[in-house]
Amino acid sequence: MSTSTISQNQSLARPNIYQFRLGSALITNLLEGHVARQDLHPFVATNATADEVQALADQYQLPYPELEHSFTTTLIEIGGKLIAIDPGFGENSPMPSAGYFNHSLAAAGYRAEDVDIVLISHSHPDHIGNLMTGGEPTFINAEVVYGRTEFDYWQRGEHIAEFRKPTLALFQKVALPLAERMRFIEPDDTVLPGVTAINAFGHSAGHLAFHIESDGQQLMMLNDTVAHYVASFARPDWAFSMDDNADAAAVSRRRILNTVSQDNIPVIGFHLPFPSIGFVESAASEFIFRPASYQFNV
Ligand SMILES: [Zn+2]
Repeated sequence: MSTSTISQNQSLARPNIYQFRLGSALITNLLEGHVARQDLHPFVATNATADEVQALADQYQLPYPELEHSFTTTLIEIGGKLIAIDPGFGENSPMPSAGYFNHSLAAAGYRAEDVDIVLISHSHPDHIGNLMTGGEPTFINAEVVYGRTEFDYWQRGEHIAEFRKPTLALFQKVALPLAERMRFIEPDDTVLPGVTAINAFGHSAGHLAFHIESDGQQLMMLNDTVAHYVASFARPDWAFSMDDNADAAAVSRRRILNTVSQDNIPVIGFHLPFPSIGFVESAASEFIFRPASYQFNV
């Protein structure tokens, strides 16, 4: 597959809204954007060789070294509230093929002012950029719920890796000014009934997953616990280049993937291929992501 073919494909029409019920909750995945990259290695594994990454890509019929990295944001209507989880880059997208949350939101029949809670998993740009638009809060009626550990880490701003300096600057621009309207949570805290924060520290200092439950139906919002639908599952100990603490991220990844595979809890991942929902199977020391087909339509 040539480079030009891949970049042309970036502008073709594709599904960008997927909606389903989980118990009495209504879940909507929105494609906020996607980007073509040419660096499967080392992007998904800074601690593996290019040959090892290419062999895994071959096994799964994936091109090498090209990949698509996509961004899926999730809306949850639960208990009479509308939650927006990690509403994307917004106007702070560094790439023309991302930053479309607000567009997809309207296409799904919602308005920014309808959002009651903005729930943030962590402070990386694709997750917080859209908190502000033109210097004003994008979601004017929303309470912003943020992990205490995560917020404190970036507010202190110490020992930030060089490649994360722009992330710190963005945090100071779009998150810090909203501190007064924030509610801070810790792992195991309830965001609202049916939505619980889960410790997924490692990808960033205080990265959170979210467990959703409605009428006995469960769902795990993995957020960035996984980065790639093959590599993060088949090789959970590979260090994703965007993990701020790769060792801690691998521990969280294994713990949470063990839970969802053992309990057969469906998962949504921010960087999984749209519509970004499926199931996790455990196989020896590895995991396999099984994308959903019609399970949530019937
Ligand atoms: Zn991300």
